[in-house]
Amino acid sequence: METTFSKEQLKDTNNKSSDKILRKCVHCGFCNATCPTYKLLGDELDSPRGRIYLIKDMIEKNKPANEKIVKHIDRCLSCYGCMTTCPSGVNYMHLIDHGRNHIEKTYKRPLVDRVIRNFLSITLSKPFNFRLMIILILFLKPFKIFFPKKVKEMISLIPKKIPRKNLPKMYIYPSIKRKKAVARVALLTGCVQSVISPQINEATIRLLNRHGIEVVVPKSIDCCGSLNYHLGKAELAKETFKKNISVWHNEYLKNGLDAIISNTSGCGTTLKDYGFIFKSDKNFKKKAKKISELTKDISEYLNENVKLNFVQNKENSKEYKIAYHSACSMQHGQKVHDIPMNLIKKTGNKVFNIPDGHLCCGSAGTYNLLQNSIAKELLKNKILNIKKINPQFIATGNIGCITQISNGTQIPILHTVEVIDWYTGGPKPTILRKL
Ligand code: SF4
Ligand code: SF4
Repeated sequence: METTFSKEQLKDTNNKSSDKILRKCVHCGFCNATCPTYKLLGDELDSPRGRIYLIKDMIEKNKPANEKIVKHIDRCLSCYGCMTTCPSGVNYMHLIDHGRNHIEKTYKRPLVDRVIRNFLSITLSKPFNFRLMIILILFLKPFKIFFPKKVKEMISLIPKKIPRKNLPKMYIYPSIKRKKAVARVALLTGCVQSVISPQINEATIRLLNRHGIEVVVPKSIDCCGSLNYHLGKAELAKETFKKNISVWHNEYLKNGLDAIISNTSGCGTTLKDYGFIFKSDKNFKKKAKKISELTKDISEYLNENVKLNFVQNKENSKEYKIAYHSACSMQHGQKVHDIPMNLIKKTGNKVFNIPDGHLCCGSAGTYNLLQNSIAKELLKNKILNIKKINPQFIATGNIGCITQISNGTQIPILHTVEVIDWYTGGPKPTILRKL
């Protein structure tokens, strides 16, 4: 694609990077075929190719965003299915991030939208605030008929209770039964996940400790920053990125870290992108690159570094039929698909890909909260496809998908790490108690 950025414009590193990305696009439109919003809405402007044109026009001409552009960019799930399909290697992820930041700088959203987005930014990225919000919403739930439709829909997605934590909050979780740990890793426990599904972090820590690995959870790190980044709040997100980079890098230099583990693929995708985000920041460039290099999804880390001790007992001797849901951030964002599936297969169960598994379930960070009707349609399709397998339970590697899918079906859904923990000596997940 021909671009016309001026020399002056290209001094800006974001423009320079977007220029390179745009020049790779040959308008072929292959990406449109696998875009969930294009499939659903049938409008070229709701396709990757259409959005690429919208972003190009906006940033190249340095035009402020308008209502039409914002509508179509907001409808993008950032599922990155288009990146997997594109034969020319167009990095749509970096382009849409640039577009979203430009929108935030040049467009004033209607008051209600601003309030909702600021509310999500403040509450979701801080576990304490999020916990408080759930308590408040549970209290207000009986009065929800008095709220506007959008708020009512958002309330219906909030979990009905906050689960109890079984592991105390510690900085270091030492390896079990070994004098010296075989490895030392940091774990990102996450903002939303640590509140609504603490059992995922607990299973991760238990599993790693049992296999001789020491786990470090720095107290000052909770959110990876992606929630704010994808809301277009780049400056706010960068504060979080910088704090995380400094804390982990310090830990790496002082005490050594073999990896930084993410067990939420949405967060892992962002952590792996820190290096790109700080590519032109003299103070953070090298450190950010190191953090990205150290980051591994838990399934990648287990596959590459751990000899798993599978144990059979009466709790796990039954054979299950499992549907594996490959989160978009995992398969398209991180290009990790077979590894988690193969790990689950090692448990001796039957594991199946979900038909049309490349299409998003509609979760996509805050998407199911902000674009509820599209998210519902995508969820409906996902559930229909899951039912074709008729599984006893579903496994996946992203808390957003777990929350979204469990809103559409009674079939239990687990994190991959909970399955592996269970088959290597951990407890049977409570959600499967009746199976
Ligand atoms: S990221 Fe997903 S929703 Fe957005 S344009 Fe690409 S395929 Fe479509
Ligand atoms: S598939 Fe790639 S090259 Fe073709 S239109 Fe989409 S982004 Fe451009």
